[in-house]
Amino acid sequence: MTCKSKQFNCVSCGECCRHIHLVEGLKHLQTNGVCKYLVNNECIIYENRPDLCKYDALYEMLKEQISLEDYDRLSVVYCEQLQNFKKDSVPQ
Ligand code: SF4
Ligand code: SF4
Repeated sequence: MTCKSKQFNCVSCGECCRHIHLVEGLKHLQTNGVCKYLVNNECIIYENRPDLCKYDALYEMLKEQISLEDYDRLSVVYCEQLQNFKKDSVPQ
């Protein structure tokens, strides 16, 4: 992935693709929250994925409302929250 961001670092956990019921423009692709294009933790339509799935393209949609610095910062926060969903769902 090529991003303008210098701060955001996607670790390819796939959790964003497992919670697309939370995203209005993607929820039509989900079954129980998981995107139908997520296979073996990889996007099988990566080159043709929706703009909502692209870091830079999504920022282009939001740039009138949020600075790139805040977008980077919030992306890190949201990713941590998504990864905590995964941890919380693992039986102890
Ligand atoms: S939740 Fe964040 S870190 Fe995990 S794959 Fe999605 S963008 Fe990358
Ligand atoms: S289209 Fe690809 S990147 Fe977008 S939610 Fe589905 S699996 Fe994830």
